[in-house]
Amino acid sequence: MFDKILIANRGEIALRILRACREMGIKTVAVHSDADRDLKHVRLADESVCIGPARSTDSYLNVPAIISAAEVTDAEAIHPGYGFLSENADFAERVESSGFVFIGPRADTIRLMGDKVSAKDAMQKAGVPCVPGSGGALGDDPEANLELARKIGYPVIIKAAGGGGGRGMRVVHSDGALINAISLTRSEAASAFNNPVVYMEKYLEKPRHVEFQVIADEHGNAISLGERDCSMQRRHQKVIEEAPAPGITDEQRKRIGDRCAEACRTIGYRGAGTFEFLYEDGEFFFIEMNTRVQVEHPVTEMVTGLDIVREQIMVAAGHPLSITQEEVVLRGHSIECRINAEDPANFMPSPGTISQYHAPGGPGIRVDTHIYNGYKVPPYYDSMIGKLVSFGATRDIAIARMRGALSEIVVEGIKTNIPLHRDLLADVSFQNGGTDIHYLEKKLKL
Ligand code: ADP
Repeated sequence: MFDKILIANRGEIALRILRACREMGIKTVAVHSDADRDLKHVRLADESVCIGPARSTDSYLNVPAIISAAEVTDAEAIHPGYGFLSENADFAERVESSGFVFIGPRADTIRLMGDKVSAKDAMQKAGVPCVPGSGGALGDDPEANLELARKIGYPVIIKAAGGGGGRGMRVVHSDGALINAISLTRSEAASAFNNPVVYMEKYLEKPRHVEFQVIADEHGNAISLGERDCSMQRRHQKVIEEAPAPGITDEQRKRIGDRCAEACRTIGYRGAGTFEFLYEDGEFFFIEMNTRVQVEHPVTEMVTGLDIVREQIMVAAGHPLSITQEEVVLRGHSIECRINAEDPANFMPSPGTISQYHAPGGPGIRVDTHIYNGYKVPPYYDSMIGKLVSFGATRDIAIARMRGALSEIVVEGIKTNIPLHRDLLADVSFQNGGTDIHYLEKKLKL
């Protein structure tokens, strides 16, 4: 096993990784920006290195600074967390060529899945059901593109191969708008993602977002850990996630989960990963793969009893997975609310000092957060300050426990979206389960 791991991230996920390392007897190195000296995991780490000024581009995205921090502290492996450099193939390559282990897939796998056209192609070949579409990059012939859109059937969506974070997409409803939409998306993609390649998909009008967690080792083992429903979204940002997804049958779970695991074996996947699907009228359509640990991994941990971060570290060190597919048993139900430092009315970020923090507790409550009394939320990074996770034997119990936790939690001094979560947990449609990806935005407009 590794002796020492460098954590190339901040906030709650850095703390989550540190906790896994401590439990495994692995020493930790925290790297942080000037603005993050007081982060909880920085205080708890065995060693810490300041890697630059507050701006992410100068610190958490500063590859030479991170590599040299690993060198001076003699770390053996680097855990990238999520966001920042976690899906950057060049970084993974640089880590490995500098003699460290990257805790994640190989660089060529990240590259393959990071380009949505090549990812979809690989998944189609591996038998994973995909959204009907152009089956590759769009060419420049207007007639051919019009014919393609008519064949797929309007509405269609034009998407950038290199897109991410909900950007680089345009929905088209008729012939008249198509050609212009393709060229606009293409030029935006060229400047935003440095990649002008765009493709076309059928636009699904009322899908749910259902994703499958997988984990694979270097010995040819790959397993599915079931699915999560992340349909409660605003601007393509997830707000609440849960496992299992309401209404998904054992047969669907096994069929799609097996396909995902098989696809991992086909592409020689290593580590934790997520296959994202749109789910509509009983059918699954692959949209993309995330090649890292996700924010919402705790709900899967709660229903499987598996520690996904520990498993990532074990696999990166060359060990086989700790369990087989047959040993994966889903139990109960889990819900996660993302707590953001933002105004619940207009969603503007709300950085500042937390004057009072009281954590909720009780049976089936897990709080993943780095905040504490007096912690100053900096304005430079993502506004998520923690995750409230509930677990219960049934979905109703998980909801009741989450409502209790949301009434107990106190975060003062800054604004948070806790009031929004209280509303959502009391929402009858949410309580019934299975709302689509547009539900939250429609509700907010009322
Ligand atoms: P990103 O990498 O930017 O997150 P995705 O391909 O995962 O891009 O798509 C983000 C979101 O855009 C999806 O969760 C869904 O809400 C919407 N979307 C993408 N493709 C389609 C589609 N074919 N039909 C309907 N909605 C889509």
